[in-house]
Amino acid sequence: MSRLFHDLAAPGVQKLQPYLPGKPVEELERELGISGSIKLASNENPLGASEKALLAIEQCYRNINYYPDGSAFRLSQRLAAKYNINPACFTFGNGSNDVLELIARAFLTPEHSAVYSQYAFAVYPIVVQATGAKANVAAAYDDMHETMPLGHDPDALIDSIDDTTRVVFIANPNNPTGTWLDTNAVIAMLDRVPSNVIVVLDLAYLEYMDDELKPDIKHLLDTYENLIVTCTFSKVYALAGLRIGYGISHPDIADLLNRVRQPFNTNMVAQAAALAALDDEAHIQASIKLNNEGKFFLQHELEKLGLACLPSMGNFLTVNMKKDAGPVYDALLKKGVIVRPVANYQMPNYLRITVGTPEQNSRLIEALSSVMAGVMV
Ligand SMILES: *Cc1c(COP(=O)(O)O)cnc(C)c1O
Repeated sequence: MSRLFHDLAAPGVQKLQPYLPGKPVEELERELGISGSIKLASNENPLGASEKALLAIEQCYRNINYYPDGSAFRLSQRLAAKYNINPACFTFGNGSNDVLELIARAFLTPEHSAVYSQYAFAVYPIVVQATGAKANVAAAYDDMHETMPLGHDPDALIDSIDDTTRVVFIANPNNPTGTWLDTNAVIAMLDRVPSNVIVVLDLAYLEYMDDELKPDIKHLLDTYENLIVTCTFSKVYALAGLRIGYGISHPDIADLLNRVRQPFNTNMVAQAAALAALDDEAHIQASIKLNNEGKFFLQHELEKLGLACLPSMGNFLTVNMKKDAGPVYDALLKKGVIVRPVANYQMPNYLRITVGTPEQNSRLIEALSSVMAGVMV
């Protein structure tokens, strides 16, 4: 890139590493000369969207010549009822990633710092660095940790908070590790964070967690005014392509985030689909069941191949290949099975695999065992 333009960019932007998305499946298939590949790379819901959501999309798409409702009024009313929380506590985003960015823009400057864990979700460093704020990265548990290898270490996170810290990001469960903190650990952390530091609890995989691990969101928000919970329609609600998520916080925080937000950041079709998806309890339950069964199957089959996974409360498993996972990833690609290498997270020996349908899971195991027979000898 020309030095001139680079130097013109804001200091935080100059230091950003470009996010490298996976290639579109069609392009990959063309390059490799294959077809019928399966994508288990982005933690999408393999069931597809709810029929109710699809119907809602059909009923609204002829109105797309109009701007959407910038306040997402109906959706905020619906979620307020779901959580028994004041609608003024909600901030909607073009995906929950958008909410994460709003938080960074509202609270961080080059004079401030943000705290997150090593191996935490890749969006945190991006939104923090773009503001020019400093990142205090807390060491994660090491890979020999008894219960939560590579998981968030609450003590390290607390120790990383300094006088300049404005925001702490916690992914629970975390992507790409799948690891989690139980509710007591979350509460113990919140008790230790100074009240002038915002805590972001990213619950993108909330619905996939075992029931006894799910935090009582209303109670947490009532108790900790510095807390922002983020949720998404991209995972269990199966609307990743429409881009919609939200934050829940003290109304004063929501007010600030809504000032930073672009007025029409969530689109009409996404709002309609989200509203309908919330009412399709059968689809949600079917998605959770498919995930639990698929995860159990994959864990078991991977174990038979001599491979260990990190503990996961998400819709994915992160597998330790015990050596550079790149060649295995490439070989799986050639067999039309797309998984996610996580070398960009400093985890070069791991592959992140989204739990698919039973057919997809079997195909993955088949492909992986034949690849390992070849590559790993
Ligand atoms: C997938 C994911 C999200 C969701 O992002 P959207 O922008 O809502 O699609 C948020 N946080 C984590 C940790 C995730 O893995």
